Amino acid sequence: MFIHIDIDSFFASAERSVDPGLKNVPMAVGSRSNLEIFNRERTNIRLMNDNSGAFVTPVFYSDKEKSFDSVFIDKIDGQKKIRGIITTASYEARAFGVKTAMPIAQALQLCPQLIIVPSHYPLYHKLSHYLHRFLQTKIPLLEQYSIDEFFGDLSGWIDDRDVLEFSKRLQQEILENFDIPVSIGINQSKWIAKVATDFAKPFGVYEVKDIDSFLHNRSLKEFPGIGKGFQRRLEGYGINRLGEIKARKALFYSWKRPGIQLYHRITGTDNEPITSKRDRKSIGISRTFDALRDPDELRRRIMIMARHIVYIAISIEANPTTYYLKIDYEYGVKVKQSRTLDRLFSETLFKIELAQMYDIIAQPEAAALKLSLSVSNFTSNHLRTLSLLHLEEDQKRLRLTKDLQSLRERFGLDIIKSGSEL
Ligand SMILES: [Mg+2]
Repeated sequence: MFIHIDIDSFFASAERSVDPGLKNVPMAVGSRSNLEIFNRERTNIRLMNDNSGAFVTPVFYSDKEKSFDSVFIDKIDGQKKIRGIITTASYEARAFGVKTAMPIAQALQLCPQLIIVPSHYPLYHKLSHYLHRFLQTKIPLLEQYSIDEFFGDLSGWIDDRDVLEFSKRLQQEILENFDIPVSIGINQSKWIAKVATDFAKPFGVYEVKDIDSFLHNRSLKEFPGIGKGFQRRLEGYGINRLGEIKARKALFYSWKRPGIQLYHRITGTDNEPITSKRDRKSIGISRTFDALRDPDELRRRIMIMARHIVYIAISIEANPTTYYLKIDYEYGVKVKQSRTLDRLFSETLFKIELAQMYDIIAQPEAAALKLSLSVSNFTSNHLRTLSLLHLEEDQKRLRLTKDLQSLRERFGLDIIKSGSEL
């Protein structure tokens, strides 16, 4: 039997576990794009990577104290302006209509007594890591599916008839040990168990005994992997409820692999096992900021983000061979460029390539709003052959990158900046 464990309103619950004064009141965690990495002063930024499964992104953090005003209030020409969005709302806040991705200013209009706490990703990261370790002692086959979600396979360990009891006990133990509420779904299929968890929330345990009757009236969007676009497509075929899918096998099969996979997941016949180890396939960072018309500053920001990506790549010993840069400008103009080089990855090489890519796509007249950088196609995952042509030069550069890495590990990520960042 599979169980799926999901922390209820994770970031909000995490904050409550360290500040009980936040319990039983409408509260929410808010965030703003973290622009601290672009500061010119030293901010002593470090990387937290304890938990680096493919689904948990490493976080950059600094120890600076955060208050509501320092994070969310901007003073522009003497006027105070509330910025930022809601990341997670407690159930008490949801009752007022406060929800994820809502602007904080709007949330405060709906619920003036709402307490908003700036996000503390290192706290969430640690909690996720400790919960993972705890669950490993309770469940023989465990898969971390996201920062706050886990699948467990209990077959051969707990009798099917006892899984409900086991799950209720586990829920209680997690509450006692971590002071956080979780919900748990149970079924023979992982994906049905996941839908059951959402159904059980908040702080519930639910076992799906009969898939057909459970799905009968559930809406399409409740199933993982059915997004808005796909939902509309299904509606176009007259399918409005999850329960209507089982009878449409031929239709789903006509969509080849993804359709067939989804069909079996929805009917609970997927037989998909626990995946306990999943390799990271890419490393990406993006930052959204106020309209920026200064191409030199934009270039500087790209180089800073590059340094952060390099730091993650080297710390997980990945050798990415595809580099990607995207810039969102005003009026919905998006430009991007990627290139694949069968070479040894290093800070120098990455920055040289990025500078060239930037020159090709930059729109110097337009105001930039967002930068996205990523690297993928790791040679550790695929057997790619690195070109011998530049090997000696690349090895030298990689040695330099690794020397910088050890300094940054000791003194923070912004201890050494290259000329292109100044
Ligand atoms: Mg959750």
